[in-house]
Amino acid sequence: MTDIVVPGDLIGASEEYLAGEGTYEERGKIFAVITGKVEINKEDRTVRVLPVMNTPPVLKVGDIVVGRVIDLKNAVVLVDIARIKGFENREIANADQAAIHISNVKDSYVAKLDTEFNPQDIIKAKVIDEKSLRLSTVEKDLGVIKAFCTRCRTPLLRKQQKLECPSCERIETRKISEDYGTGII
Ligand SMILES: [Zn+2]
Repeated sequence: MTDIVVPGDLIGASEEYLAGEGTYEERGKIFAVITGKVEINKEDRTVRVLPVMNTPPVLKVGDIVVGRVIDLKNAVVLVDIARIKGFENREIANADQAAIHISNVKDSYVAKLDTEFNPQDIIKAKVIDEKSLRLSTVEKDLGVIKAFCTRCRTPLLRKQQKLECPSCERIETRKISEDYGTGII
């Protein structure tokens, strides 16, 4: 039994099962108290409802996401969302392609997106519209957290407000997150 139940759902009879966590018993019947997955322990016949932690999280406004830049258009950056902060290692239910509009890149004017992002960059962004999956990188901790040299693909190192290739010494610019290179999300 792997169905998702909601509070009040009948999940068993007390002559069959013992009411475990996430359930309550009333007049010989066992009901769910929380939304979750029903789990039956065959050894002690306990029925439990486990919180729905294994269902994919759904993106909401304010969520911090990590993703990879896949393309730059004239006014938008297309991003493949990989993770939501707080839900690492989990698939995302409504994660399709997200976009950062040029007006949501930083708090100053951006003339061209290719001075701020490049395909393959790993970015951290905030969801500002959950329906159309619009992201923003305006805040200081948001933006590119890992970038690669456009000439030789070596990961770039941060040097003040710019990025430098340790291999070919090329200097590049990005909308850098203050967490660039730290591994902090
Ligand atoms: Zn290089």
